[in-house]
Amino acid sequence: MRMRTMLLTVAVPTLLAAGAYTALQAQSPSVTPIGSAAVNADRLISAASEPGSWFAVGGSYHEQRYSLLEHINETNVQQLGLAWYADIDTERGQEATPVVVDGVMYVTTAWSMVKAYDIRSGQLLWEYDPDVAKGKAVDACCDVVNRGLAVWNGKVYLGALDGRLIALNGRTGTEVWSVQTTEASLPYTITGAPRIIKGRVIIGNGGAEYRVRGYVTAYDAELGKQVWRWWTVPGDPSKPYEQPELERAAKTWRGDVYWKIGGGGTVWDGMAYDPELDTLYVGTGNGNPWNQAIRSPGGGDNLFLASIVALDPTTGKYKWHYQTTPGETWDYTATQPIMVADLVYPRGKRRVVMQAPKNGFFYVLDARTGQLLSAEKFAPLTWATHVDLKSGRPVEVDEARYEVTQRPVIVAPGALGMHNWHPMAFSLKTGLVYVPVHVNNASYASPTEFKLNLEGTNTGVSFAGGAALYDRPGAPTKGNVESYILAWDPVNAKEAWRIKNEIYGASGILATAGNLIFSGNHNGEFSAFRATTGEKLWSAPVQARVVAGAATFAAEGQQHVAILVGGRGLPNTATRTNPASANNSRLLVFKLGGSATLPTAMSTTSAGAPRVKIDPPLLTASNETVFAGEQAFAANCAVCHGPAAVPGAGSVGPDLRYSGLLPIRNGWNPTVRDGDRAQRGMPGFSNTLSQDTIDAILAYVIKRANDEKAAQDDAARQK
Ligand code: CA
Repeated sequence: MRMRTMLLTVAVPTLLAAGAYTALQAQSPSVTPIGSAAVNADRLISAASEPGSWFAVGGSYHEQRYSLLEHINETNVQQLGLAWYADIDTERGQEATPVVVDGVMYVTTAWSMVKAYDIRSGQLLWEYDPDVAKGKAVDACCDVVNRGLAVWNGKVYLGALDGRLIALNGRTGTEVWSVQTTEASLPYTITGAPRIIKGRVIIGNGGAEYRVRGYVTAYDAELGKQVWRWWTVPGDPSKPYEQPELERAAKTWRGDVYWKIGGGGTVWDGMAYDPELDTLYVGTGNGNPWNQAIRSPGGGDNLFLASIVALDPTTGKYKWHYQTTPGETWDYTATQPIMVADLVYPRGKRRVVMQAPKNGFFYVLDARTGQLLSAEKFAPLTWATHVDLKSGRPVEVDEARYEVTQRPVIVAPGALGMHNWHPMAFSLKTGLVYVPVHVNNASYASPTEFKLNLEGTNTGVSFAGGAALYDRPGAPTKGNVESYILAWDPVNAKEAWRIKNEIYGASGILATAGNLIFSGNHNGEFSAFRATTGEKLWSAPVQARVVAGAATFAAEGQQHVAILVGGRGLPNTATRTNPASANNSRLLVFKLGGSATLPTAMSTTSAGAPRVKIDPPLLTASNETVFAGEQAFAANCAVCHGPAAVPGAGSVGPDLRYSGLLPIRNGWNPTVRDGDRAQRGMPGFSNTLSQDTIDAILAYVIKRANDEKAAQDDAARQK
């Protein structure tokens, strides 16, 4: 079945390259006024003919993250410079790809907030905060992130961490409607972007490690009314099946644990749509608990876990599925990015669906039937030897099933996967898929005793049980081994080349017709590489870790590239320069000849002017109070806000010396004592700190702010 070809070509829309770029220049705001968000089915389906926009997180319905713009290309990319930037006022991971349409860039940040910018100047047009209750963070396995929004018919749609699907007015950011898409009492979360197909908003959710049952739902985009819901796994067997195929799925499950705690299979990220076949593809997550012997004693495939599922977007009716990891037991989700493409094989063109899920195999499926065309290892996985193309099933390594052998084992990959949510891209120019790969392993062992946890996570795996295996001779390097950008030839199902990262960690990828790919790293750089060879052509320091994928668009006749930066902690070499964000979260927009610069220090711009004025009140408290505050700060506050109130590389909280609350005890108390900013990640301390202690901490921070002000005044005098 594996097919070989000498020349790889791909079907490309007829209006290509230079012609397309001219077309984008003709797209003027007088036709679609700024902020009109006038996205309709025609514009989405023919997104390639309007490359000046970036209509959806994945670029288009096919989710190839490929742009026909070639104004920035391999010959001039060295001239790329910063056009503008905007400080983001949240910490934590920034995973969203911006969406650009009708002169406005829309982006979501951590805590499901939305910001809209004028793409010419970076001027903030509006912002929206859904006020997600901070306590919801305990239900999020992997930070309070959000991977983006969707735009349709004048409105902007986002899924909030707490399970709401929210429609906003695209011009003003005011709420049009909001609907709870999950059972609010259950630990569902939403971090993925909605997609919009034929007037329906498609949204999934996460939480498979907790105690939820996966599903994907479609809502009417105008009214917010539910149109259909498709469940990924069977539920309570005493109740009727919600869909006919669940009857078949139920035969692949055993026992009663799974439906009591949901079974998992959440649709938390990857989706794509093929307008020609009118088919929606969604990826489903891992089982709950991970350990299959507990979840489904005696085995079974456990449909539809870890699968790519094809659905009718109008009705939600099942078309076909392909299960990547039958009887999943290692947290091997298949929620990773999915893309639709035409591949040209020697025997002809095939419309395909491609995915590189956690389990380490790169899958190419026939988009119409789900038939497996190829499945080859894209990273050194150890849980299977290969995938049998005839049956479509992996041939497992027996030892990897710790829950069957009852023996601990090191398996690659671990739960992080060889590829996770980080966007991959497909270049129509090179025919290569660019995958952010992180090679890792973990030890798995069955616990000696398992008690169902109805409140928190249920992995059913003992992580300590196999830890000693790493001490044995010949054991692999423990945990995170290496990461790289992989250029994968999907027709020949093999690696073309790779670009190794200096520092472990994945970052999303964008491909363009300028024979370029753009990607960041965890070392604080955003770079461009030649798409045919991987040669590094350009790089810019961005002072933050980069995990998200970039978008490209045109403004005032010029191509721009936008990337949202910010990950956990700061790069080793970076200092904090964004007073509103401990990890220097920012939106950065580049263009040829761009000459803007990032600040080099927190308090001054590159021109030396105060960027954020430090303006503390006079210190009136006694030395004793300040000393008590210092002790209490060290014990309660320093972990987030930095030792001695100076945030460091690992700090996740803002620099309190610059806080506008310092002169306002009536503002300090609600925040520190009562938890008024809990939704921003600042818990209240009313249960643990007395009012005297809270006052003392305020006095200490005022003291530290005055210290800093004095130092800055001194430095200014010496200039
Ligand atoms: Ca998981």
